[in-house]
Amino acid sequence: MRDGLLVVDAHTHIQLTEHTMAGRDGRLSVVELIDRMDRYGIDGAFVIAHAWAGWKLSQYQAEHDRVATAIADHQDRLVGFCWADPLLGPAAVAELRRCVVDLGYKGLKLHPVYQRFSFDGPQVRPLIETAAELGIPVTAHLDLRVQGSEPWRMIALAETYPEVTFVMAHMGRDLQALQDLSFARAAADVPNVLLEGSSTATDAYGTFEGPAVVLGPERVLYASDAGPFHHPAVNLLKIDLLNMDRTSKARILGLNACRLVQWDPDSIRRAPDWPAGTYDTPSGVKTYACPATGVFRLGGQ
Ligand SMILES: [Zn+2]
Repeated sequence: MRDGLLVVDAHTHIQLTEHTMAGRDGRLSVVELIDRMDRYGIDGAFVIAHAWAGWKLSQYQAEHDRVATAIADHQDRLVGFCWADPLLGPAAVAELRRCVVDLGYKGLKLHPVYQRFSFDGPQVRPLIETAAELGIPVTAHLDLRVQGSEPWRMIALAETYPEVTFVMAHMGRDLQALQDLSFARAAADVPNVLLEGSSTATDAYGTFEGPAVVLGPERVLYASDAGPFHHPAVNLLKIDLLNMDRTSKARILGLNACRLVQWDPDSIRRAPDWPAGTYDTPSGVKTYACPATGVFRLGGQ
């Protein structure tokens, strides 16, 4: 917990097989993930199965089995999201069904950058329709710089499927758009789009408070992309630094994530509580002055 508030990280990964990325060892076990959550006051997390570019169906199936088995004994801390490649057609739909019905996954992740499809293209629709039928949310890694993955495609798709909740992971992965709140503004009139702040650039206001002003605090999610590469404390510090009201922080830190996957907050086993701005670091416990002063506000707010 953080300052007495429930924290649910809406985007994490574990890596159970050997994998090197940018020269770094990418492995992270579920025990290591939970240790880290305990160390930073993160009570619950979504664990997103990870598929790399060019994977075959059998590789997806093996990853889904591995992650489901790993998190099965930690249902009071972890919820699984499965992965799908729309270009696999009906086999992808069948695997999504297996993941949700047989393995207990609670959400779907799509990655048009790795799997190279157009996010609002016709191949995606059977998966979205199946997500609607299964009652699960769809999160996606979008990227303004990659054709087919532009964040506005999610907004268009969400308008077509108002019964499905979509999560824009990484807020579109563009610093300028984050700072001028472009994607929040674009999504403002489409209530089934949520913005999630994992592995974003460092603008605390642009990542959390600005989108909460534009969309309402019920449509913004704390997330880290924690796994081998992204430290979960960075985005926690951003939220600590902001002078948002406590009710909004509670929603962003954890309650919105619980609502997304219908996870009862009372069923989540709590991590140790940390005061806002206090972190266990390699050089000892450090405390930052939180909330910080001098943060710019939206004009007219
Ligand atoms: Zn990720």
